[in-house]
Amino acid sequence: MSVTGENTNFYQPSRQGLTPCPTRDAAELRSAARSLGQMLVFGSELSFELQDAKNPQNPFHSQDFANKQSFALLQSMLIAERWLTEFLLGPSKSKVRKKTDICVDCFRYDWRFPEGSLAEELAERRDRIHKLALHPTWELVDLGARTWTLNRIRRCAEGLEIFAAQIKMAHPAVAEEFTLHTKFARVALLNGRSDGSRWFVYPSSPEIVAASDVRAAP
Ligand SMILES: [Zn+2]
Repeated sequence: MSVTGENTNFYQPSRQGLTPCPTRDAAELRSAARSLGQMLVFGSELSFELQDAKNPQNPFHSQDFANKQSFALLQSMLIAERWLTEFLLGPSKSKVRKKTDICVDCFRYDWRFPEGSLAEELAERRDRIHKLALHPTWELVDLGARTWTLNRIRRCAEGLEIFAAQIKMAHPAVAEEFTLHTKFARVALLNGRSDGSRWFVYPSSPEIVAASDVRAAP
């Protein structure tokens, strides 16, 4: 089903029938799946910590140090989210897929993410991340402090579960690798890192404050 309506058609799947990707053996596919899965878990851990942080604003509008820590977490989380979204949705119609990309075709030729609300949400989010996190655009200046929905990386976990189910028959061990990590990611979204440690400490540690003071001194 295609979602229609004003400005809602963000998902434009790449054509089917593109030149097949170079053949990869099972170990390579599994390793790629593990990398994607680990990135999802990492992003989910950051998402959990960001819920606890000050709402990160864009650097054009904030000089506050705690906010800058949040900003560093946010950028990392958004890149993780975009990794997963790029993988699941593939390049948009207008862009050419690169041979060096890990893409869905590498695992299952001509599979395309099903159209619908999840695809639209992922694609819309990809565009926002592209404009506000990965490139300097005038929106950063014109729109003022930005706010982000911090737990939408959960939707990437859902997308990866859909994909894992689609490759399970042909590549059961690879599918299992994806599934294992989506499970880890769901736990991380609720509880943070499995060992209870944190990526960042709020408020700043005395060492970081001291180092900042030294640098700020005339
Ligand atoms: Zn590929």
